[in-house]
Amino acid sequence: MNIRHLRKLTLAAVMCSQTAAVLAQQPVDHALLDAAAVRVLPDVVNWRRDLHAHPELAFQEQRTSDIVATELRRMGYEVSRGVAETGVIGLLNTGRPGPVVALRADMDGLPVAEDTGLPFASRQRIKQNTTQGTTEVALMHACGHDMHVAMLLGAARVLADLRGQLSGNVKLVFQPAEEGVPNEPNGAERMVKAGVLDNPKVDAIFGLHVGITPQPTGTISLRARGLMAGSDTFDILVKGRQTHGALPWNGVDPVVVTAQIVLGLQAIVSRQTNLTLAPAVITVGTLQGGHRANIVPGEVKMSGTIRSFDPAMRDQILAQVKRTAENLALASGAKAEVSFDAGYPVTWNDPALTAKMLPSLRRVAGAAVLADIPPTTTSEDFSYYGQRVPSMLFFLGVNPPGTAPADWAPNHSPRFNPDEGALLTGVRTLASLAADYLTGN
Ligand SMILES: [Zn+2]
Ligand SMILES: [Zn+2]
Repeated sequence: MNIRHLRKLTLAAVMCSQTAAVLAQQPVDHALLDAAAVRVLPDVVNWRRDLHAHPELAFQEQRTSDIVATELRRMGYEVSRGVAETGVIGLLNTGRPGPVVALRADMDGLPVAEDTGLPFASRQRIKQNTTQGTTEVALMHACGHDMHVAMLLGAARVLADLRGQLSGNVKLVFQPAEEGVPNEPNGAERMVKAGVLDNPKVDAIFGLHVGITPQPTGTISLRARGLMAGSDTFDILVKGRQTHGALPWNGVDPVVVTAQIVLGLQAIVSRQTNLTLAPAVITVGTLQGGHRANIVPGEVKMSGTIRSFDPAMRDQILAQVKRTAENLALASGAKAEVSFDAGYPVTWNDPALTAKMLPSLRRVAGAAVLADIPPTTTSEDFSYYGQRVPSMLFFLGVNPPGTAPADWAPNHSPRFNPDEGALLTGVRTLASLAADYLTGN
């Protein structure tokens, strides 16, 4: 083969791959997408009301996952069940090469006695064994996860309808236990460990939460970078040497060292952290030491919490807490033992992904997209997905027009009553994010 021949062939190959790229980048027909969302809306409302009347606690979402799996199979999804106990994964393979986009909904309810007066209010009760005997616990979807499941099923139908226009894969993640169980890993952490982000490997994941920030129905609010706080707990044991309270020079006083550490920890936030980048909080919540007024005790214990919004800043603060406690103790001849217990990580909206997807949000909700809200100090286990792949979480306003903010019951309230008028926006947004991501538009 001569060189001219080779050049021709290469040119043909380049043109061919360019044509393929152009084809793959055809935007999805948004009019069809919106029409499909309107078509599925009555089902979304029915799913939501049925789920609302039948809430289930973390890792017990059996009935919910039965419904999810049945509906997904009916729509043509490949379904995996029993992931992290009750989790369900639905895979829509378009048969054409392309990225893998994931959408997530959480399925669990809460031990809250509903007080909404809705015709489909929960009357579910379960028996729980405690040290005081068997008690009855009322259950409620008081965080709106019933809405999340219903909207993601709606988006699933829309995406299945548009399958012919998409390339790559859609992976739907219905996870248990966002609210968690005390002293156990939560649903998202276990789903990630079970491999939900692998096979096929997820390139980006999106999720929404109703409420959280008090906004009118249909408002989409978010921010790039840290959206919801990461939380860490610390324990510090200050070891001195016990002695007579009248003769402190004969021992090492851990009470005075502890006082210095409490103030030193506040100096980390006020003097060593760049608060113009993101907020941070350190709180010492417990202090225990000593038995008698005239004895210098041998040791003092303290514990506290750290809230942060930037992963790098969080790592730095943890290192500074350790350094401050250990070295202040050392200065007085005492010893500080510092340990940390990691809570939820920061819910991190990848800046590049967020910027790329903003036009999709704006197409759906226009001026009702608030793209730079302040961070919130609550936490979300969606953060575990974001530790592994680029992720974006947004809030969906669910307070109906004509109502006063003073009457808006927050998430976890027995009167939390999200407006179903937001369901269509939720379905359109989830479906658009997945479709636009896959088609690169
Ligand atoms: Zn919640
Ligand atoms: Zn929630």
